[in-house]
Amino acid sequence: MRALVTGGAGFLGSHLCDALLAEGCAVIAVDNLLTGARENLEHLGNERRFEFREHDVCEPFDVGSVDLVFHLASPASPVDYLQYGLETLRAGSAGTTNALAVAQKHGARFVLASTSECYGDPKEHPQSETYWGNVNPVGPRSVYDESKRFAEATTMAYRRYRQVDTRIVRLFNTYGPRMQLNDGRVVPNFLQQALRGEDLTVYGSGAQTRSFCYVTDLVDGLLRMARSAEAAKLNGSPVNLGNPEEFTVLDCAYLVLHLTGSRSGIRHMALPEDDPQQRRPDIAIARAVLGWEPKVDLSAGLRLSLEYFRRALEPREMSEPMRAAS
Ligand code: NAD
Ligand code: UDP
Repeated sequence: MRALVTGGAGFLGSHLCDALLAEGCAVIAVDNLLTGARENLEHLGNERRFEFREHDVCEPFDVGSVDLVFHLASPASPVDYLQYGLETLRAGSAGTTNALAVAQKHGARFVLASTSECYGDPKEHPQSETYWGNVNPVGPRSVYDESKRFAEATTMAYRRYRQVDTRIVRLFNTYGPRMQLNDGRVVPNFLQQALRGEDLTVYGSGAQTRSFCYVTDLVDGLLRMARSAEAAKLNGSPVNLGNPEEFTVLDCAYLVLHLTGSRSGIRHMALPEDDPQQRRPDIAIARAVLGWEPKVDLSAGLRLSLEYFRRALEPREMSEPMRAAS
């Protein structure tokens, strides 16, 4: 088996490369390093079955024969996709088309990393795959939400018109080691703020909810989705992957303070425009079809992440400005 991972130098992509190699696959990661980092793949330097190619997937490319294509290339953090709005739209559109063309050419199975953001600020709770979502098509987040919705539509079209064997996963908030320090998402922000003794920046009242999945659980779900014979029966319909345990952002902040023993306070800041008020995956399909459910709860996952952020902070302490979405 040879697998292509677009976005392979990113947070999730690099963990996926590790897991595929551990399963015995050969892996080629393609990434333009827009929001990822070479350091995420440094440990694979001597691995003969691993190859890295620096390339923008918005430009056509080929990687030779592959059996599996995982398409993860796209900015993912709100801070990143608001900074790189046009790049995000192109990654979802041109990038997805080019990755699908690679799958078509080599007869590979294609797995799209889509997002819970397709549900927008959801009116249905928890979110099941049949929900069509509540997305503001002209709001600031639309560069990401609509790019992913377009990516899903393109994936289904390649399935219907070009007979590509496609699968779509909608990922809910996932965290863990290798998230960039300046990523701007809530877990890396809170962990480093707590470690630095700075106030934790809670946007709005903090009553909005998220469901946080630890990276190893998520990667396990991705691999099951790629491998599962049962999943073929879904005819390409999306599958939610995420941890159904729901927390308010304020709960998450207090949990971080508790686990780190930090004396930091809480500072409320403006809520970003169109910030979804609630988010929790219905994972009934993943449970039934993939036999998958998360094993690592938020406390355990935050503990596992802490060491990485401690080390990442050491050389750059105080020099890395925090990034805020507002
Ligand atoms: P990330 O920013 O760490 O990784 C994304 C990677 O894609 C980066 O390495 C970046 O350099 C690369 N990339 C971006 N545009 C590219 C382009 N045009 N060509 C080549 N490479 C490009 O983010 P992540 O959290 O690892 O997310 C990975 C994927 O999973 C994304 O598609 C994201 O939308 C999806 N996702 C992630 C989450 C999450 O909570 N982490 C939730 C939902 C969906
Ligand atoms: N958030 C926060 N403080 C931060 C970063 C994020 O309160 O420093 C909030 C944000 O407003 C959202 C939630 O945490 O309600 C999750 O944000 P994140 O950027 O991690 O991902 P999102 O789910 O919005 O894509």
